[in-house]
Amino acid sequence: MRVLQPAEGVYAFYDGRIDGYRFAEGPNWVDDGALSLGIASYAVVHDREAIVYDTHVSIEHASYIREFLESQGVRSFTIVLSHWHLDHVAGTAVFADCEVIASERTAELLTRSQSAIEHGEHEGPPAIDPLVLPTSVLRDRRPLAVGGVPLELIHTNIHSDDATVVWLPEQQLLLCGDTMEDTITYVDEPESFDVHLANLSRLRELAPDRILPNHGAPEIIGAGGYSQDLIGATEQYIRALERCRTDPSLRDAGLQQLIAGSLEAGSIRYYAPYEAVHRENVETVLAAR
Ligand SMILES: [Zn+2]
Repeated sequence: MRVLQPAEGVYAFYDGRIDGYRFAEGPNWVDDGALSLGIASYAVVHDREAIVYDTHVSIEHASYIREFLESQGVRSFTIVLSHWHLDHVAGTAVFADCEVIASERTAELLTRSQSAIEHGEHEGPPAIDPLVLPTSVLRDRRPLAVGGVPLELIHTNIHSDDATVVWLPEQQLLLCGDTMEDTITYVDEPESFDVHLANLSRLRELAPDRILPNHGAPEIIGAGGYSQDLIGATEQYIRALERCRTDPSLRDAGLQQLIAGSLEAGSIRYYAPYEAVHRENVETVLAAR
């Protein structure tokens, strides 16, 4: 695990994007959805208090985060879950003595699938047992403070309908979860593309100076994060996928060709393992017609 510091009082706990490094043999959601692409959890820290945004892919990862922050003097933790996908909630048991905040929809989805997740039957193994559920939910927006510094939790529907992003108004910093990724968004709910595009526009209205996604390039995250152009790159990719529905010639295009504009502009960087994500996205979009 690499500990990066993208901003004053903000840590990124980054793992993955390492050739030949795997969590386990055979297909599993830790390697296939997270470590192969790279994954970060974040902490916002002020005056011995921390907001931890996602609990990472395992108990071991979450324990590392907690021990690191305690070694920095943190004594009080609040957990915020970006959404219900397993690579974001697997370590919550390490913080079972803390408040765990998520959107009402995240709580609903995790509760509904709790037994399957605890038996390794939801996305397959490894099981997350026990799965610690949210203790507190938000609906639309919810103000929060860490060591007296204000931040805001915002529920949105991008990538998944239960997403919660964290907005730090004083630093104009957006912790965006999986609503955006570098290189491309992972599509799970293609029937909601119109809603995703509308909500990406709403995130732009916040006028973020920097954006920190959970799946992105460690060198960019460590250097402070992405510019607002990450929003535009995500919109352009969603629109390109929509065109794949009507224009069969686009369906076999390589990812680099499809997103050439965003790559040339430097809004995102090409990372080859996202080619497989793109192929799956195209299939998901076509199957949903
Ligand atoms: Zn994810």
